Amino acid sequence: MDSYQHLYIDGQWTLPIKGGSFASTDPSDETLLARVPAATAEDVDLAVRAARRAFDEGPWPRMSGAERGKVLRAIATGIRQRLPQLAELEVRDNGKPLPEAEWDLGDAAGCFEFYAGLAEAADAQPRQDIALADERFSSWVEREPVGVVGAIIPWNFPLLMAAWKVAPALAAGCCIVLKPSELTSLTALELAAIVHEAGVPAGVFNLVTGLGPDAGAPLTEHPLVDKLAFTGSVPTGRRVMQAASREIKNLSLELGGKSPFIVFADSDVEAAVEWIMFGIFWNQGQVCSATSRVLVQRELYPALLERLVAETQKIRIGNGLEEGVLLGPLVSRGQYDKVLAAIDSGRSSGARLLHGGERPVGLDKGYYLTPAIFADVPTDSDIWREEIFGPVVCLRAFDDEAEALRLANDSPFGLAAAVMSRDLPRAERVAKGLRAGIVWINCSQPTFTEAPWGGYKQSGIGRELGQWGFDSYREVKQVTRYDSDQPWGWYIK
Ligand code: NDP
Repeated sequence: MDSYQHLYIDGQWTLPIKGGSFASTDPSDETLLARVPAATAEDVDLAVRAARRAFDEGPWPRMSGAERGKVLRAIATGIRQRLPQLAELEVRDNGKPLPEAEWDLGDAAGCFEFYAGLAEAADAQPRQDIALADERFSSWVEREPVGVVGAIIPWNFPLLMAAWKVAPALAAGCCIVLKPSELTSLTALELAAIVHEAGVPAGVFNLVTGLGPDAGAPLTEHPLVDKLAFTGSVPTGRRVMQAASREIKNLSLELGGKSPFIVFADSDVEAAVEWIMFGIFWNQGQVCSATSRVLVQRELYPALLERLVAETQKIRIGNGLEEGVLLGPLVSRGQYDKVLAAIDSGRSSGARLLHGGERPVGLDKGYYLTPAIFADVPTDSDIWREEIFGPVVCLRAFDDEAEALRLANDSPFGLAAAVMSRDLPRAERVAKGLRAGIVWINCSQPTFTEAPWGGYKQSGIGRELGQWGFDSYREVKQVTRYDSDQPWGWYIK
């Protein structure tokens, strides 16, 4: 068992004031993996005050983008140098298969490099001129860091979700307090060591591991925090939004999804099945954009179902560290029970369970589940409407484009959607009609640091990644100068 004792506050490894800790469990065998320091409101207060001082008085927001970029690149190098150890730790903490953890960590390092590039590029464009209709004035926009950021992240891509927030916030010149999920704090603790070694000044990056109500809530409520950046569930997002309302904090929310995938009958069945399986089974389906609702044009529906079941039966389930494993355990007992309850409700919904939804034979310990395929799922059932966040796919048939779009858009969520067809004008027409922040054509899930990420409707507010993610940590300041020597004319005529 590993033991982590310290929070990272103001450039120092600090014991939690109340001295508490909590357990992190290995989901592959339910054994104790590590003890993790439990921050409380007192520690969060120290961390926020440190970030506030670093922002108001320290060098970080005043440095050039090139100087900040250099430090971000050193963080990326630190991640790459420790990648094998970090990937193994991520698997032991989260359960995901090792190749997926390696993939996440490479992306996390890439995210720091990408935002280093944007920080450097920002030096070349310190202001953006605005052409005013009134020529007596000159006007321009300057971008400035938002300030102190409280960042709260979930457990499904632990280090990658940290990178999505820490990299753009630091690149923009903000100072940050990061609260990871209590289920997966370990790579965030390693990240703090990497950030320290990279030479990030004291107070610029702070890490408070702890429980949601004890460490997350005080961070959202702290009056010295300027912006809250949250990824997680809709109910917690709602609480974060309420907390932000008191000081009208800047807010970005990345919440859940129930993403549809429309497959037209002219699609290649093999390709469709591979994208569906990847879309709903990678990371054990614990993906906000997961391909959880699949709409298949009626002519292709029986063949696609048959192929999907046949291919799903071949998936190797087991400890994510074992070679060839495609599906590891779910992250926790709580998540396992939640997904099993959803499968039970699916069984009594009138849908047909074609495969899975049970503990695999021979895996008696750990949060393992055979991937579940439900067909003919009623559109008013919970499994069709609510996010399950597990390896459970729901399918139904449709007849025409209008019906597919109507069914796809009939959801309170709008994070992602996908459409597959050989008829590209039709696919693009359907993509336009889909009410979602991310739409994939002839694929599902590939995510790129350069492209915006975020949802419509209850899937969130704002965008991460790309230039959009960078700008979400930058205020827009209008500066307008009166250039005329004539009186303004309000009372001097
Ligand atoms: P939660 O909303 O339960 O938790 C998210 C984070 O919020 C965790 O760090 C959690 O801490 C913290 N938290 C819990 N309670 C509070 C509180 N009262 N105040 C402040 N922070 C709090 O989500 P999960 O971790 O269970 O993640 C799964 C959910 O996240 C899914 O619904 C999924 O769709 C969504 N998600 C969305 C993504 C997106 O990009 N849109 C990406 C990934 C996930 P703790 O863990 O200690 O409880």
